[in-house]
Amino acid sequence: MTEKILLVEDDPMIGEAVVNALADAGKAADWARSGWEATGFLSENKYDAVLLDLGLPGKDGMSVLRELRAKDSETPVVILTARDGLDDRLAGLDAGADDYVVKPFHMSEVLARLRAIERRRQGAQAASRVLTNGTMTLNCETKTVRLHAPEGDKEVALSKREFDLMEALMTRPGAILSRTTLEERLYGDGDMPESNALEFIIHGLRKKLGANAIGNVRGLGWMVHKGRAAGR
Ligand code: CA
Repeated sequence: MTEKILLVEDDPMIGEAVVNALADAGKAADWARSGWEATGFLSENKYDAVLLDLGLPGKDGMSVLRELRAKDSETPVVILTARDGLDDRLAGLDAGADDYVVKPFHMSEVLARLRAIERRRQGAQAASRVLTNGTMTLNCETKTVRLHAPEGDKEVALSKREFDLMEALMTRPGAILSRTTLEERLYGDGDMPESNALEFIIHGLRKKLGANAIGNVRGLGWMVHKGRAAGR
């Protein structure tokens, strides 16, 4: 998906350079040349990030930022500020900006900030992910499994390795994952597993989650069953 950026900048030369560089990097950009224009764009669109100059004619960047944060705490904002504008930078961060770039900047700096924002967003998304196969739900944030049963749900805490294994299996319910795939997932960081370490973890998980929670297909690998979708 193309990232959509709002650039707020009254200097035509800087503005044009940034818009062109964003286009070269495969990002779509709207360009607001004043604070009022920025407020208009922000009320009508959702952006992946805002590049915000502070010194703007009429309504300044700080007002735009405060207004945005009053109703939207999520859209990332990178402030574009003058070299001597330390107070501005601090005030901007206090008002809810995520990062800043000092003018004159090289476009690669701006693009690096945008990449960092995108990485943080993806990290946060991954952490709040919830995976379910209908009979149990894995919460990637709390590293717990919720077992769904007629008599009521039960929540079970997992160790790091148990969670890593369940995450691999629950990402693709119904798919058989081989020993190699699972061991790489568990020990990709270089620790050499004992020969039966995987069986040991699976044994522990079955004790916690029930004997049928993880199925074994002899010679091929392990899987979690594709149950009825939750909520249906
Ligand atoms: Ca300016």
